[in-house]
Amino acid sequence: MNAPMYRPPDPAKGCIFCRIVAGQATASRILEGPDCLVFMDLFPASKGHTLIIPKPHSESLFETPVEALSRVMAISKPLAEALRAVFEPDGLSVIQLNGAAAGQTVFHYHMHLIPRWFGQPLHIHGRRKAERARLDTQAATVRAALLDVMQATG
Ligand code: 5GP
Ligand code: ZN
Repeated sequence: MNAPMYRPPDPAKGCIFCRIVAGQATASRILEGPDCLVFMDLFPASKGHTLIIPKPHSESLFETPVEALSRVMAISKPLAEALRAVFEPDGLSVIQLNGAAAGQTVFHYHMHLIPRWFGQPLHIHGRRKAERARLDTQAATVRAALLDVMQATG
């Protein structure tokens, strides 16, 4: 367990989520649409911790157009079902932070989906960086489940 502790990305290097959208930074991608991207959190608070972002940069809820928020919300439902099918958690937190005072550490609007199990701490931020290979495997599994859910619900 020598993985580094979570330190928020250095904003001087540019927005990390914009770099992921542009393919300039690696992420374990689950699904990419024209407007949104879904990928695994690199410092998961629990197994299956997933993020949904609108592709265009906007800092928080306050700057993000309602159409973009609606698209994120629309994906959250089938994604929640896919996460439940894959990880069989006891519950699922849907969390979204706005501003440093609220705990936001990446200033590109995003929604967290965090599977939860009884007896595990309700962290929002993970303590350790996950292994890329494990995240890639999880992303592929969640992607398959998500496509199944989307197909079944039209
Ligand atoms: P926030 O605190 O802004 O609500 O959440 C930011 C999230 O982004 C955290 O859960 C953190 O683990 C995650 N994160 C930070 N850097 C990266 C990265 O480079 N890649 C991915 N996939 N997630 C990241
Ligand atoms: Zn950005």
